[in-house]
Amino acid sequence: MKETKISRRDFLKGTVAGAAAFALTATGTPVFAEEAEKNKKENPTEDATAPIPPVEAPEQWDKTADIVIVGTGGGGVTAAQRLSEGGNRVILIEREGVFGGMSRYGVFWFNNGGTEIAEQLQWAFPDYPYDPHKIVEYYNDQYKMTGNTKLLAKLAETGPRVIEWAEKEMGAAFMPSPLHGALPSAAHLLFFNTSAKPEAAESGTGVGYDWLMGQILKSAQDHGTELLTSTEVTALVMSEGRVSGVKVRDKEGQEAFIKGEKAVLLTAGGFGNNRHMLKKYCPSVADAMVAHGGWSGGTGDCIRMGIGAGADIAGRDSVHCYDRGVLPRDYSDEDVQFDSWFEHDSLVGGQPWLLLNRCGERVPYFNIMHTNYPYSNQGYYMNGLADRVNPLAVQPGGKTFAIFDSKYREVLSTDAFGVRPAPGYVFDDFFRPVAVEDLADQLEKRRVESGSIKKADTIEELEEQLGFAPGLLVEAVQKWNSACEAGEDSEKFYPYEPQWLIPLDSPPYYGATVGITSYDTCCGLRVNADMQVISTEGKPIPGLYAGFHTAGGESGESVLNGLPFGSMYGSNLLSYVGGWMAADGISANES
Ligand SMILES: Cc1cc2nc3c(=O)[nH]c(=O)nc-3n(C[C@H](O)[C@H](O)[C@H](O)COP(=O)(O)OP(=O)(O)OC[C@H]3O[C@@H](n4cnc5c(N)ncnc54)[C@H](O)[C@@H]3O)c2cc1C
Repeated sequence: MKETKISRRDFLKGTVAGAAAFALTATGTPVFAEEAEKNKKENPTEDATAPIPPVEAPEQWDKTADIVIVGTGGGGVTAAQRLSEGGNRVILIEREGVFGGMSRYGVFWFNNGGTEIAEQLQWAFPDYPYDPHKIVEYYNDQYKMTGNTKLLAKLAETGPRVIEWAEKEMGAAFMPSPLHGALPSAAHLLFFNTSAKPEAAESGTGVGYDWLMGQILKSAQDHGTELLTSTEVTALVMSEGRVSGVKVRDKEGQEAFIKGEKAVLLTAGGFGNNRHMLKKYCPSVADAMVAHGGWSGGTGDCIRMGIGAGADIAGRDSVHCYDRGVLPRDYSDEDVQFDSWFEHDSLVGGQPWLLLNRCGERVPYFNIMHTNYPYSNQGYYMNGLADRVNPLAVQPGGKTFAIFDSKYREVLSTDAFGVRPAPGYVFDDFFRPVAVEDLADQLEKRRVESGSIKKADTIEELEEQLGFAPGLLVEAVQKWNSACEAGEDSEKFYPYEPQWLIPLDSPPYYGATVGITSYDTCCGLRVNADMQVISTEGKPIPGLYAGFHTAGGESGESVLNGLPFGSMYGSNLLSYVGGWMAADGISANES
């Protein structure tokens, strides 16, 4: 065995005994120029898709547990709670200084029925009474028959149990989404009702799941789970064909080895914030992807570690993403990560301005009020968020330009489009509302001054700034203005409604490159219904488990935007359900 030189100092100084020490702080609004510089420094050119090979076991381990869990999103904390409650020694490892990952920002859980709350409404999806079999058939139909039915069936059975557990044992207070009142189909979305738990409203993000996650984590710790924060897993340890632990590094660069005698579980998120992995595994959306919607995670390292240990990949070209991003700058191949997303972008990226591709052709805008997935109320905007991904993804070079003029301030504040209403506020620092009147000022300051939204006195000048071939934008704007004057769109298919036909006649003129914002990937390590990671030879890799979104395949193959939020349980609840399934799988297979 390889000899390792591990510092025996207390590398694990970062170990914290109680969840209370992890009061969450909201992260700040992203900045652009500085962010870009930092991004380049932190992400030197490398093959950010390369498999990360496992390392050999040390002569002596620094710590030992039954199960090592990597990542403290919904899946990580759920698995830790379940496994430690079941009598296992669990070590839970988190790279960041706080627990929760992207999961702590989630607002909705998606629900198919089978829970008390749904039974009270006599509601189930696709129809009442609740039947997991029907759910699998419905979703697989949506996934164009590419889903793994065994995995989907396990998901359909497990979801209601997780919701009930969160409510009854962990103290979550859910209600059907307030967006639609208590109509039956709104039961599909469970809103974490912080007003029912004032202490939850005061914690961390205020509207997110961090309070609930804190409860789950506390319960896990009460059952003996040891939490290590500011500790990054850098490699899997493999001995005699079995994954037996992990190699970690703390913030000071000290390395150590932690043994998982029964299993290592990867619940470390997907690769939505790794541009190179997106290009390789989700190429259909990669060119039009302009930002990442989260503030941590999404870097895909644990997926690369799994591949290094021989894992297969599932869910190629499947990703959770929305429209509404604005390209902050032209990324280069050196940029591995995206600059973060800026909430104000949604009002530029998600509205029916004059939308053109680089050939000067109109890019259709789908009126999200007319989009109906059968399980959602009419007008529910999230469906539209996902629907618009496809037309954005297929434009030449992944480029769609939104063109508007100085009247945009008025349009936004009076909700002239009426399709994606200016919400009355947008989020500045996370979940800190900013009045819409201030929105334009914010946009000017953050986007126009940094050059990501171009501003010009003439259309000719804007054309040049946006890099259109000479004459294309000028001609398209003339055609647009004629249609506006006539009050009727000249497009035969998906014509704009008359109120959207706002002429471009009041300089300055603006142009933004709009595109897709990535959330989480549905592509990841191939797993079976016990969440065992499957090798390219088709067998479970001994000792290795993964939860969504490090695991992939829950949305089938080549499902660009999936359903709204990508899967049977959206994105957030999916993480918890995956953690639960992995805990079940470990309990069943690793005695
Ligand atoms: C603002 C916002 C709102 C959202 N709202 C919703 C919603 O309403 N409904 C919905 O369904 N979805 C929503 N989502 C998406 C959803 O919350 C996430 O996609 C999902 O919760 C991710 O879960 P996860 O466990 O896969 O990853 P995460 O929650 O990100 O957890 C992974 C953790 O692993 C850690 N990690 C990664 N690599 C390592 C390593 N090498 N070593 C140690 N630790 C590591 C990360 O730091 C992270 O903490 C939202 C996301 C955001 C950002």
